[in-house]
Amino acid sequence: MGLATALTLSERFARLSIVVIDKEARVASHQTGHNSGVVHAGIYYKPGSYKARLCVDGVRKMEAFCERNGVPFDRCGKVIVATGASQISRLEALFERGAANGVPGLEMIGPERLREIEPHARAVRAIHSPRTAIVDFSQVAQAMARVFSFNGGQIRTGERVESVVRRDGLLRMETSGGTVSARTLINCSGLHTDRVARMMGVRNDIRIIPFRGEYFNLRPQRGLVRGLIYPVPDPAFPFLGVHFTKRIDGSYEAGPNAVLALAREGYRKTDIHPGELLRMLAFSGFWRMAARHWRTGLYEYYRSFSRRVFLRDLQKLVPDLRAEDLFRGGSGVRAQAVNRDGLLVEDFAVE
Ligand SMILES: Cc1cc2nc3c(=O)[nH]c(=O)nc-3n(C[C@H](O)[C@H](O)[C@H](O)COP(=O)(O)OP(=O)(O)OC[C@H]3O[C@@H](n4cnc5c(N)ncnc54)[C@H](O)[C@@H]3O)c2cc1C
Repeated sequence: MGLATALTLSERFARLSIVVIDKEARVASHQTGHNSGVVHAGIYYKPGSYKARLCVDGVRKMEAFCERNGVPFDRCGKVIVATGASQISRLEALFERGAANGVPGLEMIGPERLREIEPHARAVRAIHSPRTAIVDFSQVAQAMARVFSFNGGQIRTGERVESVVRRDGLLRMETSGGTVSARTLINCSGLHTDRVARMMGVRNDIRIIPFRGEYFNLRPQRGLVRGLIYPVPDPAFPFLGVHFTKRIDGSYEAGPNAVLALAREGYRKTDIHPGELLRMLAFSGFWRMAARHWRTGLYEYYRSFSRRVFLRDLQKLVPDLRAEDLFRGGSGVRAQAVNRDGLLVEDFAVE
């Protein structure tokens, strides 16, 4: 987000002096470098929302950017499968959303057509999105960093923003590497956005709650998956449900789940950050969210510790899958915005 914003500004306003500050030694060290690599077509988002509008437009721009900059981009296509009659109305609602959002090429298909696309998937009905694509977002970020630097932008890695003070019409940022003064500061700090926003004096009721997504890798020998196979998501959550993903390097993954993480950068089950945990527990929105979703939350923990349950959920999509097809993979942590009422904020909230 930060690099894309900086790059766009450097293209539109050549005379601006722009600096990107990142606390890690390399760009894309957090969410951008730990995701499924799917360039979503815009099916899920509420029509009219920022996400719906920006996603459909963004896909075209992402593809053009990758082509211009030699970043591999594969329009491998995706199916969302309804595995029981009870899911059909939700599948149809999703199809209508996608159509309202202007997603190109969407099709409602039956089991026979599905067999042609994904021979091992099982469904009573499915949505086929032929233009959903995959990419390596780390490579995208590195290419953005290259072009931004070429445009004269500066990238300071390994510098954490620790405080922001407004003085004489300027924002003075104290970072772990020195001081940076700027007229404008655009905060794109992912899992830490709420904290940096508060440093900047923004007061709102939104906090970031971290959810870890854990993956299994799929042994490719049996060729059970060709592209992307997703379940019909639970409409109460912004998470898409465990699914099968083709990666741009030709490997395959299954997951991610969505387990409450006890640290914002808690990539392992055992990672706990006491300060962040206490702040999360002190936030009333956390408790309201927990009261609403405790059943799903417990199930996610259970599935996180049980390979058998993970497998069973995946077998709903691809019944031929066996335990020996899976081996433990990596993980990522999502920055989920939650408001004081405990509602998961589904759209971008720009201050
Ligand atoms: C498991 C998982 C799967 C996902 N799958 C997909 C997918 O398939 N397709 C998709 O489109 N999206 C997916 N997403 C979402 C996507 O990854 C994120 O929306 C996106 O990467 C967010 O980018 P960002 O720049 O906002 O955050 P980040 O990539 O997290 O970047 C924030 C940056 O801010 C820096 N930072 C934080 N605090 C400070 C500070 N105080 N000072 C300096 N620097 C700071 C961090 O080091 C970091 O580099 C997934 C996310 C996860 C976790």
